[in-house]
Amino acid sequence: MRIDQVDVFILGMVLGAALVGVGVLLAVGVVRRLFPISQPTADQLLQVARQLMRWSRAVADDVAQFDSTLEEFTAASDALAGGDAGDPRAVERVLEANRRLRQRLHQAQITLAKKSALIRELMHRSDTDPLTGIHNRRYLEDQMRRLMAQARRHGRSLAVIFVDVDRFKSINDRCGHAAGDDLLKKTAQRLRCEIREQDVLGRYGGEEFCLLLPDTGLEAACATAERLRSTVAQLPCPGDNHRPVTISCGVAVYSPGETAEQCWNRADQALYAAKRNGRDQVWYHNGARLCRYTTGGNAEVTGCGPSEPDASSRQLRAASQAADGGPPAPRLTRSGRQPDMAQPNDDAVADHWQEICGRLRRRLQEVLAEADRPPP
Ligand code: GH3
Ligand code: MG
Ligand code: MG
Repeated sequence: MRIDQVDVFILGMVLGAALVGVGVLLAVGVVRRLFPISQPTADQLLQVARQLMRWSRAVADDVAQFDSTLEEFTAASDALAGGDAGDPRAVERVLEANRRLRQRLHQAQITLAKKSALIRELMHRSDTDPLTGIHNRRYLEDQMRRLMAQARRHGRSLAVIFVDVDRFKSINDRCGHAAGDDLLKKTAQRLRCEIREQDVLGRYGGEEFCLLLPDTGLEAACATAERLRSTVAQLPCPGDNHRPVTISCGVAVYSPGETAEQCWNRADQALYAAKRNGRDQVWYHNGARLCRYTTGGNAEVTGCGPSEPDASSRQLRAASQAADGGPPAPRLTRSGRQPDMAQPNDDAVADHWQEICGRLRRRLQEVLAEADRPPP
């Protein structure tokens, strides 16, 4: 191997180690973000990050060792050029150090491929609801921020649908928790079949689902909600096959200038209106009023009521359930925290991480090819 090739080799190694360092920092950043959500997943991610950190330190040590061996070699070759015999074993040592480094690079390629796949898998798990296999609330919140920014930037519409299974508690009470779980899974599958690839479906919590529909106006969103309602109604109700499973839906379209919290709150108010007016219905909030949506060719307003801008719809629903004789719902708002637009979403971080791993792999391959090329 010629000296300039060796230089390229070392440069490649240093660049590689630096990229791994950046990757590790990103991975640790991801872990920090995940801590409040899923402790086991966060622990696993932290472990991967630590392994990568140890591994990049080992590569850096090899680079340093190779560098000092190379210095010896350069001194020996300078001595030879000056007529001095120098150290006859210098070349041997450089070749040995080079062989070790190349082995390490080969392992590095394999390690990076495995670890980046593992990180992606862990991040996927942290975004998924384990019961239904669809996305979880954390993912919905992240996607809502992303889609809202997209809608604002490109002047597109974004619709939100909340879906809540009606009288689900009584299904649990009559048929048991396992039957309730099974119904939740089937409902999620049904909902998933009815939406487009670009739509986001998640379990918001309990027997409540949320859909985010990019590039969708109010009427199309209501029609989608109506379709969801009729497809879920085809599911046999556990313990009573003759009764359909019914859902109530609340729809709102994001209005630029409002927060995710405000938009979700309007969809939630619409859902509450659907519950209050008898369930098994689609209601929407058009920014000013709450209206019922029914099919029959065109969207038709069959009942309108004022919106409840100052009330937490959760609290109103709790009051309504208490009036129904049901248990009060927890007094929560849609999201416990205000959206933080400065936070990168996990997809972007994962993509960044993948890109870094890809760049490192490509760079290592280039360096290996460079080292293999015979001198001209
Ligand atoms: P409404 O029509 O007003 O929505 O009434 P509901 O009975 O559907 O709503 P309520 O909030 O009174 O009850 C929801 C129930 O869902 C209570 C809770 O035990 C149950 N639940 C929440 N998560 C799960 C779950 O993962 N599996 C099962 N089987 N039940 C769950
Ligand atoms: Mg319910
Ligand atoms: Mg509910």
